[in-house]
Amino acid sequence: MRPTGAARIAGVVGDPIAHSLSPSLMSAWIEAAGLNAVYTPYRVAGEQAAEFFRALAASQCAGLNVTLPHKQTALAVSDEASAAARAIGAANLLTFRDGRIHADNTDAAGFLNALKSSQVEPSRGPVLILGAGGAARAILYALVEAGAPEIRLSNRSRANARAMADDLAPGAQIHDWDRRDDALAGAALVVNATSLGLSGGEDLVFDWSRAPADAVVADSVYKPLETGFLRDAAARGLKTIHGLGMLIGQARPSFEAFYGAPPPESVEAAALMVSLLEAAE
Ligand code: NDP
Repeated sequence: MRPTGAARIAGVVGDPIAHSLSPSLMSAWIEAAGLNAVYTPYRVAGEQAAEFFRALAASQCAGLNVTLPHKQTALAVSDEASAAARAIGAANLLTFRDGRIHADNTDAAGFLNALKSSQVEPSRGPVLILGAGGAARAILYALVEAGAPEIRLSNRSRANARAMADDLAPGAQIHDWDRRDDALAGAALVVNATSLGLSGGEDLVFDWSRAPADAVVADSVYKPLETGFLRDAAARGLKTIHGLGMLIGQARPSFEAFYGAPPPESVEAAALMVSLLEAAE
């Protein structure tokens, strides 16, 4: 239906924002569900983000998704925050009620949703996470909560991996970036949470012959859908999961938080996102 003056309003805030796939996905869900609602992209510069969040919280807006570079600011301005957002140190979902700001992080749940959609059990064996930025923190939090039995971390800057482990998984093993192949032995799940592999950039390279034949390899990068990291792993016969699963997985609980019902199953979310990515190439 066409939105009226009573439409439920939500959106996504970032800088840049023009590349975001979220408005198309959320709008497809809104349309399929027949809701009187809108979902709007907002480009907001760093120094204006806190003021923007407070202004929208004072309006009839239901909430906002938050993307780079505002996820820490979103947590900092909130009046209350979920355990996930506090532990990860960032929020990608703000909901507004009576002028108050509630912060949450659905990237962690999004990653677990992606594993579940691929029938991968997060606690089936040792996991190796590459990276120590925002995506890595969400993935690490998710895997610890899901009971991964052994955590291995590797990051270009070892100090960042150490700090992340101290916050979220003090017992994790830290592997030197230059010797990350060593961490593949016996790994059940290997996740790229660095920005390596993004279109036009450097690939993340591994010696996949060192990984068990039943290892699962997941990427947080989704542009391109098949990164060099996933392509090389697939060439060795390993099961792979691309980054769109996490993106769609974090959008589902956001939709429910904004519009009060889970997104309709009738929308082929993955196919829609793939077609948007192909059109953008
Ligand atoms: P951050 O900037 O917070 O972290 C970047 C990470 O990549 C750091 O660990 C950094 O290491 C590492 N890195 C950057 N450049 C290099 C390099 N040349 N060599 C080795 N390591 C490098 O980014 P995010 O964590 O927010 O995002 C990481 C990726 O995850 C992005 O591609 C993003 O698109 C994707 N993402 C996907 C989501 C999804 O839903 N699918 C959700 C969120 C993010 P160092 O600490 O040494 O700087």
